[in-house]
Amino acid sequence: MNLILLGAPGAGKGTLAKDLAKIFGIPQISTGDMLREAVAAGTELGKKVKDIMDSGALVPDDLVNAIVREKLARPECHNGFIFDGYPRTKSQAESLENLLKEDGKKIDAVILLEVPKEIVVKRLTNRRICPHCGRIYNLITMPPSKEGICDGCSSKLITRDDDKEEVVTRRYEVYLERTAPLIEFYKQREILFTITVQNGDEDVTQMVLNVLKRVRK
Ligand code: AMP
Repeated sequence: MNLILLGAPGAGKGTLAKDLAKIFGIPQISTGDMLREAVAAGTELGKKVKDIMDSGALVPDDLVNAIVREKLARPECHNGFIFDGYPRTKSQAESLENLLKEDGKKIDAVILLEVPKEIVVKRLTNRRICPHCGRIYNLITMPPSKEGICDGCSSKLITRDDDKEEVVTRRYEVYLERTAPLIEFYKQREILFTITVQNGDEDVTQMVLNVLKRVRK
C-alpha cells in the first residue's frame, strides 16, 4: 500500500502515520523528521535548511525531492510506504508521480485530515516530542506519565523550534498557500479520501482503516 497523508501541520499526520506503519508493516516517510535529523547531525543539507525550517517556510523542492528519491530506492520501501509531510507543493507531487512511474508504481490513496484551525494551533503549541525515539505527546490530551520525560525511552522531551506560537501561524499560512492546492490535484486523480475531525477526540486511525477497505491496491 502506497499512501500519502495530507493535512495542515498539527492535523495528526505523524501520529496516524506511526499507527498505520505498525498495522501494515510498511515505513513512515516523514520528510520533516529526515530534515530534522540532518540538522541535528550538522550535515551540509542540515546547514542549508535549518533557518528555513525555524522560520516555518518550506525547504526548496529540489532538496526534498532528492532525499525522497534516495529513500524510496531503499529495500524497506519496496512493499509500500506512508508519506507524512510530503508532497507539500504541486511540483513535489509531480516529481513523486514521475519517480513512481519510473518503477511502475503509483499512489493508492491520499488521506486528507481536515481539522479546524483552532485545534491544530492548540495541538502544536502543546506538542512535545522525544528527540530520541520520536514519540509525540500533547500536554493536554496525551501527557507523558512523568512530566517532561518520554514514557518509552526516558529521554527528556523537547518542544520543536517551529512549534512556537508565532511560527505555527506562519506554517498554517504556508499550508493554505502551497499545500492545500494538492487537494484538488489528488481529487482529479480520484484517490483522495477526506477524514473530517471535528473535536479532536475521534479515533482517526479507525476512521482511516474503514476508508482504506475501499481502496484497491
Ligand atoms: P513537519 O515535521 O512535516 O511539520 O516539517 C517541518 C518543517 O520541515 C516544515 O515546516 C518545512 O520547513 C520542512 N519540510 C518538511 N517536509 C517538507 C516538504 N515536503 N517540503 C518542504 N519543506 C518541508
